[in-house]
Amino acid sequence: MLLAILASALAMTAIVALRYLGASGLFALATRRVRPGLYAGLNHQIRKEIGWSLASAAIYGIPAGIVAWGWQARGWTAIYTDWAAYPLWYSLVAPVIYLAAHDTWFYWTHRWMHRPRPFRVAHAVHHASRPPTAWAAMSFHPIEALTGAVVIPALVFVVPIHPAMLALVLTVMTVMGVTNHMGWEMFPRALVHSRAGNWLITASHHQRHHDLYRCNYGLYFRFWDKLCGTDRGLA
Ligand SMILES: [Zn+2]
Ligand SMILES: [Zn+2]
Repeated sequence: MLLAILASALAMTAIVALRYLGASGLFALATRRVRPGLYAGLNHQIRKEIGWSLASAAIYGIPAGIVAWGWQARGWTAIYTDWAAYPLWYSLVAPVIYLAAHDTWFYWTHRWMHRPRPFRVAHAVHHASRPPTAWAAMSFHPIEALTGAVVIPALVFVVPIHPAMLALVLTVMTVMGVTNHMGWEMFPRALVHSRAGNWLITASHHQRHHDLYRCNYGLYFRFWDKLCGTDRGLA
């Protein structure tokens, strides 16, 4: 049993690491084409970003691997594979619940990490990327990585979700994590400055957090930033 748990944790770590390398590599290549020279002189920083990110992959992979084992071997979690188990509207809304819950958790833990001591101990690693690149998506100190790693493994116990919808959540999480740090906006101006864009976080919003530090703390949505008066608009 212990061996099976270990194998699951290792497999999940490898998946998270490869997902990171694939997504960050893809958008780093895109950056080279769209904004040539944007990462010039940042090789040393990028090496550090990749190092921290790969360490984070293990911290994300271990709890995910344990829960995945428990799901398969022990019937843990509220994950359902039969679409008919819930009304279709619920299956479609579940990813939004996940993103909103993750966003809420992130906003408050992120604000806490901007207090002087947690910042010095943990969050400074993420802000050492100046400016961040596509490789900074998982560039976190282990303490910060741990605060992020527990979210989805905890949610799957509480909020029922179909594996396909969970895959969608993980895809959004990965793509936004990378693109919000890559240094340029990939979405069209018309969307970013639209009414919906007013509530969504893309690179223009998170870049501002890296420039100014004490604002724009959110992950996916601008709800908490607006409610708490920490939204300073777009870069
Ligand atoms: Zn960031
Ligand atoms: Zn921060």
